[in-house]
Amino acid sequence: MSQGEGGRREGAFEHRHVTVSTEQTASDLYTQLEKLGAGKFGVVYKLQEKATGKIRAGKYFQTRTAKEQEAAYREVQLMNLLHHPRLVQCLAAFQSREELVMVMEYVAGGQLFERIVDDDFEHTEPTSVVYMRQILEGICYVHQQSIVHPDLKPENIVCVSRGSHWVKIIDFGLAQRLDPHAPVKLLHGTPEFMAPEVIAFEPVGFTTDMWSIGVICYMLLSGDSPFQGDSDMETLHNVTAAQWDFDEETFSEISEEAKDFISQLLQKDSRRRLPSEAALAHPWLQRTEQSSAKPLPKERMRRFLARQKWQKTGNAVLALRRLSGLAHKQQAPVPSPGTQEQGGHPQPEGTWPWTDTPGQGRARRHGAREENGSCSLALAGLSLEDKGRAVGSALGETAPGARLTVLRGSKTQALGAEQGPGTEQP
Ligand code: ADP
Ligand code: MG
Repeated sequence: MSQGEGGRREGAFEHRHVTVSTEQTASDLYTQLEKLGAGKFGVVYKLQEKATGKIRAGKYFQTRTAKEQEAAYREVQLMNLLHHPRLVQCLAAFQSREELVMVMEYVAGGQLFERIVDDDFEHTEPTSVVYMRQILEGICYVHQQSIVHPDLKPENIVCVSRGSHWVKIIDFGLAQRLDPHAPVKLLHGTPEFMAPEVIAFEPVGFTTDMWSIGVICYMLLSGDSPFQGDSDMETLHNVTAAQWDFDEETFSEISEEAKDFISQLLQKDSRRRLPSEAALAHPWLQRTEQSSAKPLPKERMRRFLARQKWQKTGNAVLALRRLSGLAHKQQAPVPSPGTQEQGGHPQPEGTWPWTDTPGQGRARRHGAREENGSCSLALAGLSLEDKGRAVGSALGETAPGARLTVLRGSKTQALGAEQGPGTEQP
């Protein structure tokens, strides 16, 4: 790994303050090349700037509704606050009648984990330190701007080029500027990377990102996903209970310092997690020597990537549609005072019919996808007495065939409703 050379190449990075242009369209200035990826908001294409021949990435947002447009503008506005070599840079934006195109620098190397599993790619504890240091440098800067990412996960860490050890953080689609007077709660995320407070529908903070960084680091060193269960419900339960450990065999070659670093991030109580600055100063990340540079096994990481690919296929989309269909039958969301809910995603929103839950005032919920094409809804802040009422009023009429699972074993009661492909009995 040649950090010196990379450092020089990486020293100068392009950044601009972007205003959304309505005069020109992206297709006036760029030729659209192949698709790079698709996500929550829309599709990302490779672009070539006509005037310079430079390769860029363009994120296409549909902006047919005011809410969609607001979400796209918000991402551009946030990108304008985030100028750092470890963060993908926004270079231009164009609004046409039904779509906004955000032009970014093109990050050529693809997902870090995909690179790591390449046969000839070096993967050791010291190289992992190099990635974690870069991720933390980026996140320290994001936090200094009072912004949280809160969608950090392996697919959002990408390599600058194939074969390079330089990484960048992408996807600020859920990023938020935190205001202590208006706590932010999120309804979105990927169960295995979500912090317990997100699942409990409690306000997110800077240390919400630190939890996710702990999960990424655990996976980087072991290939295992620390909270992954056999279903999303089980995963959400494991996170809520902060149930995880270091598998003795998998972690046998990993240093105590690395384990200490992870342990200080995967704390259920967000106040006990290391903040980004302190994490960067942790002895594990200050290491420079390459002494224990044994190659780490890659098989488990390969299995994770295969699962991730599978989860991105039609099944997940189908499940989401089911859940949004279910949610639409419920009454409109009732925002609690002082709470901003993140919007702009074609994801389930909607409140269950009972909003007068004793003691809590309102049930908290989280919608999630199941691998088998069904969907689940985790509800926290309920007591067991609510169970009958929940089933009766929420599921009985609106979701025939729904199954109710009550998860216990943690302080937060999670009450889940799973709707299968329609064959299950209540
Ligand atoms: P979403 O919010 O919809 O998940 P992302 O910003 O994560 O969108 O983009 C979706 C996918 O597109 C990413 O996972 C990645 O594969 C690809 N991608 C996004 N931005 C870039 C970029 N700047 N350069 C190269 N590929 C990118
Ligand atoms: Mg993404």
